[in-house]
Amino acid sequence: MSNIQTLVDQFGENVFSLKVMREYLSEAAFKSLSSTIHTGVTIDPGIANEVAEAMKLWAMERGATHYTHWFQPLTGATAEKHDSFLVPDGEGGALAKFSGEELIQGEPDASSFPSGGLRATFEARGYTGWDPTSPAFIKYDAAGATLCVPTVFCGYHGEALDKKTPLLRSMNALNKEICRLGKLFGIDCNGSRAVATLGAEQEYFLIDKEFYEMRLDLLQCGRTLFGRSPAKHQQLEDHYFGAIKSRVLAFMADLDKELWRLGVPARTRHNEVCPAQFEIAPMFEELNLAVDHNMLTMEIMRKVAEEHGFCCLLHEKPFAGVNGSGKHNNWSVCGPDGKNWLSPGDNPHENAKFMTMICALMKAVDVHADLLRATVATAGNDHRLGANEAPPAIISIFLGDQLTDIIEQIEQGGASSSKRGGLIELGVDSIPHLPRGNTDRNRTSPFAFTGNKFEFRAVGSEQNPSAANVVLNTIVAEVLDEICTKMEKAVAAGEEFNAALQSILGDIVKKHKRVLFNGDGYTADWVAEAERRGLPNLRKTPEALAVYRTEKARSLFSKYQVLSERELESRYEVYIEGYQRVVLIEARCAVTIAKTLIAPACISAQSELADGIKAVKEVSGGSVSGVLSLLGDICTQTEVMLAAIKTLEAKIEEGDIPGMIEATQALRVPADELEGLIPDYLWPLPSYAEMLFMM
Ligand code: ADP
Ligand code: MG
Repeated sequence: MSNIQTLVDQFGENVFSLKVMREYLSEAAFKSLSSTIHTGVTIDPGIANEVAEAMKLWAMERGATHYTHWFQPLTGATAEKHDSFLVPDGEGGALAKFSGEELIQGEPDASSFPSGGLRATFEARGYTGWDPTSPAFIKYDAAGATLCVPTVFCGYHGEALDKKTPLLRSMNALNKEICRLGKLFGIDCNGSRAVATLGAEQEYFLIDKEFYEMRLDLLQCGRTLFGRSPAKHQQLEDHYFGAIKSRVLAFMADLDKELWRLGVPARTRHNEVCPAQFEIAPMFEELNLAVDHNMLTMEIMRKVAEEHGFCCLLHEKPFAGVNGSGKHNNWSVCGPDGKNWLSPGDNPHENAKFMTMICALMKAVDVHADLLRATVATAGNDHRLGANEAPPAIISIFLGDQLTDIIEQIEQGGASSSKRGGLIELGVDSIPHLPRGNTDRNRTSPFAFTGNKFEFRAVGSEQNPSAANVVLNTIVAEVLDEICTKMEKAVAAGEEFNAALQSILGDIVKKHKRVLFNGDGYTADWVAEAERRGLPNLRKTPEALAVYRTEKARSLFSKYQVLSERELESRYEVYIEGYQRVVLIEARCAVTIAKTLIAPACISAQSELADGIKAVKEVSGGSVSGVLSLLGDICTQTEVMLAAIKTLEAKIEEGDIPGMIEATQALRVPADELEGLIPDYLWPLPSYAEMLFMM
């Protein structure tokens, strides 16, 4: 048992943090590196050798034998290629070496990472480049210890081949516009930068490893393709926030400890809605670091689960008919003044800035709802979005009653600088205190204001959260750019500041309030209402991904230098291909399971019953009509299933992706029926009840 002080002392012990740097670097190098970290200025190559040497020393003291550039290719996972510190010394011996050059740039054999045609084979090289704003860390495993250096991953001409590069670019775009707005509000940036902040709540399932290994569908697809709904699953709502089982708690405790050593500020752990479903949430951090930490969290979760005899399922919908898993993306902006700009202020002037941010978000989300939707489009998330417990595919904003009321007053306030009866005047009146957190909660909204941040709930549990945040940063930068341009002109023309701002924000509210929706997002009424309002409802991945190919998306990303047209197109290609591959793998896996596991079990059940009927008749001559009817049901459903296999095989043969999805789903229906008909001892797969309840 560790007491809290031990854990406090261990926090970040595997991280090459500022604290460690101060100890291991000369004062000049430390100053230079920490200013890069704080202000984003380019790293001084002159200090690279010293930093590398220090990192090596520190890492070797902790048992590291290798280093790796750690990056996030478009596969959605993380990638690493280990190099040992060891180099021959030319005299038959060896020494441990890690140069500045090796720290700054790597050249992994990159031809097997998806590039969507960006990297023709003649220029197949890819480069990894050190990201000093995310600290290096040490990972321990059975093989020893490895120094991991977070990096970007680019092609020969600097084309982004990863998820981090556009994230950093979008943070720059946002920083620029936030500082511009800050200047209008008289906030001195003083060389500091604005950053987006992220707190990513991570949902997941744990099941016993033995069950996992007996389920080919989980092994190959991460989700069950078959499984009859058990009598009890989550109906009694007795799991959410319930007492945590000790075996699970032991896992959670180890997970927290390991994450804390890696400097990941894991904070909250609890049971989720579905049995066997849980959540871990960290304290929010600067976005780039928070994304790295979320990727690391998922990796460590899988590893620690295994050590505890569990399998950690991160798929968005491992089990049909019950809650799926998301990654609630809590996003805000920390201004150059170090304050949260989505937090209402203490005075009218600060409130005006806050309302500007809210209106900017409103316009950004309305104009680019389709693009936000595209960022969460994956085969896995298609099973979750729009299903009953998850946010719908329609992107709307929940502001809560009070803030909606204020927004409406701004709309009515128009350009008038005179105080009208009862209306809040921007920059002059204070706004009422807004409730924060859980008090004013709408769980059905995909994009909810929760008092001092926005929570984008449509992100899938298994996704790298960067794409959603790249879009958020960029679309907010775009609207702030427009607002600042107008305000700068108005100020230059001698207009009164508050009146000009009120007029701009009033216009935004008028045009974009259709995106606001405080009601129940799960109802059919909302789908109809959203259609009347003209809000996009992109139900499935292919139509959502197509948004990446629109002129609107292209010009947005190129204008703010986040993704060039080629880079954007390459992403579209990688994502759509990835989607199609998942569908095909699931279809083929379903055929294999149905043909080689379920069908033989059904045939055994049929012969057992037939033999039994014969035997009973011979011995007693008693009635077997009930048994005959059961046999009949099994035979009928088996025939239906065998026919469904044929249909799915035909779709696979044709390469018909939507057909495969439909036929995979259709194949499941008779199979799940059969699970309720044939003897339990013949059923070849662990049941939903076993997987969800036995741990
Ligand atoms: P809940 O959403 O369950 O009410 P919290 O309000 O504690 O829980 O917040 C959930 C997540 O939002 C946490 O990861 C938290 O750190 C994060 N969060 C809080 N403030 C911010 C912020 N300013 N920017 C980004 N994330 C934040
Ligand atoms: Mg939340």
